[in-house]
Amino acid sequence: MQATEQTIRQVVQEVLTQLTGRNGVHGTSSATNNWGVFSTVDEAVSAAQKGFEKLSRASLDQRRTAIDIVKKMCDEQAEELGKLEFEETKIGRLEHKIAKLKAIKTVPGIEFLRTDAVSGSHGLTVTEYAPFGVIGAITPVTHSLPTLAGNFVNMVAAGNTIVCNPHPSGAKIASEGVRRFNKAIYAATGLENLVTIIGTPTIESAQQVFDHRGVKLLVVTGGPAVARAALKSPKRAIVAGPGNPPVVVDATADIDNAAKSIVAGAAFDNNLLCIGEKEVFAVKEIFDQLMNAVSNHGGYRLNAAQVAAFTAKAFAPPKEAGGHYILNRDFIGKDAAWLAAQIGLSIPAETQILYGETDENNPFVPEEQMMPFVPFVRANCSDHAIALAKKFEHGFGHTAIIHSRDVHTITKMARVMNTTLFVKNGPCMAGLGLGGEGYLSFSIATPTGEGVTSPMTFTRQRRCVMVEDLRII
Ligand code: NAD
Repeated sequence: MQATEQTIRQVVQEVLTQLTGRNGVHGTSSATNNWGVFSTVDEAVSAAQKGFEKLSRASLDQRRTAIDIVKKMCDEQAEELGKLEFEETKIGRLEHKIAKLKAIKTVPGIEFLRTDAVSGSHGLTVTEYAPFGVIGAITPVTHSLPTLAGNFVNMVAAGNTIVCNPHPSGAKIASEGVRRFNKAIYAATGLENLVTIIGTPTIESAQQVFDHRGVKLLVVTGGPAVARAALKSPKRAIVAGPGNPPVVVDATADIDNAAKSIVAGAAFDNNLLCIGEKEVFAVKEIFDQLMNAVSNHGGYRLNAAQVAAFTAKAFAPPKEAGGHYILNRDFIGKDAAWLAAQIGLSIPAETQILYGETDENNPFVPEEQMMPFVPFVRANCSDHAIALAKKFEHGFGHTAIIHSRDVHTITKMARVMNTTLFVKNGPCMAGLGLGGEGYLSFSIATPTGEGVTSPMTFTRQRRCVMVEDLRII
């Protein structure tokens, strides 16, 4: 009896599934108005897979339309979406949340794709750059919607679809973006679920994305724990991991430009950027001059007692000898004036960064603080400064910055650091095409080596060979 009931239930379920699939009124269809937001990884991957199959049959013009919609939405709705992200995550600066969304229009799309061909006496061979399928994207809280939107532009340009497991503290804005993008893309092209998302993400759902057979490639943007987890995954992973970018300032530098650049980079979104200036090693000849110049550009200098008081609030000591200092997460991404108030200082609200002289043992030097306090360490000479920069970048291979007019010193540091981004005489953002040459991405693949990701990063090569024929010369 029980078995019969179960069989009937199964049959009904199957019929319902078939009906809803045909009519497009349930489950993965946009008509239910979930518009790509799902509660389980299975549903999200299955919808993205169907989205991929449809995208594979669509024209390049339709792909281009989908990308243009995302870029336009990020540009035109930046104020509203930036505000939603700021209110949800409570970190960073509203003006920079908006700026990051507006910058999505500079992320490269279909124009970056190419086809390679070789012709010779044996015929013609074409290499095409094809999609992987469904990409599993893990995104950070520091730029929840910008990372998702930037990944969308790159990955969909290459013909993939995406299932995203966002950071739980930035999941609402990421889901809102997914809903808006899918809805507008569906209306314009009929394409569905080019990006899907887990509405209530957890570490477990991230792991399910890692393990899902339907996910062909992982792209992980985040800190040390998730980068390590992705590197251990049996699936191919492109890992945009953490950084701790050092800045070297030598005696030949344009000191005013160095100070201005350090403040601009470290103040951007309250130092949430993985490429942001996190610690400065300046040679003793110009150290005091540099410290004075920083205060001309919006920096507020803490004295030794204030640095000590602030450090004690921002970090708890390591649990074991030689371990990491424990970052007070309530301080992450907060305004300089708010941070100063935590040690009883009242400073102007428009202060860009706090800064002060420390030695290399201060935890702000080794740790990725993600807040607008920058430690400045006095170095004996440029070689000493470069050696300290190397030590405290921790071999992440992420970003390093130098202010110098000495080509020899610049070259030496570039070689020693071996980082993915190396910026000379400008703020960190110049490394992502914002004030420097080059293009933008919010996923900079560091340990896995793909660099500043672009549509080509998310392609697989397919070679198509014609023997003897098709060569026309
Ligand atoms: P985070 O590591 O706390 O979280 C990133 C993502 O990983 C989130 O979606 C989170 O839910 C998930 N996650 C965390 N631990 C996990 C685990 N063990 N298994 C599976 N998933 C896990 O980082 P965050 O605070 O959101 O972002 C800041 C960090 O990301 C910084 O370290 C920064 O340098 C780095 N980052 C790197 C880049 C880059 O392009 N290289 C860009 C932005 C941020």
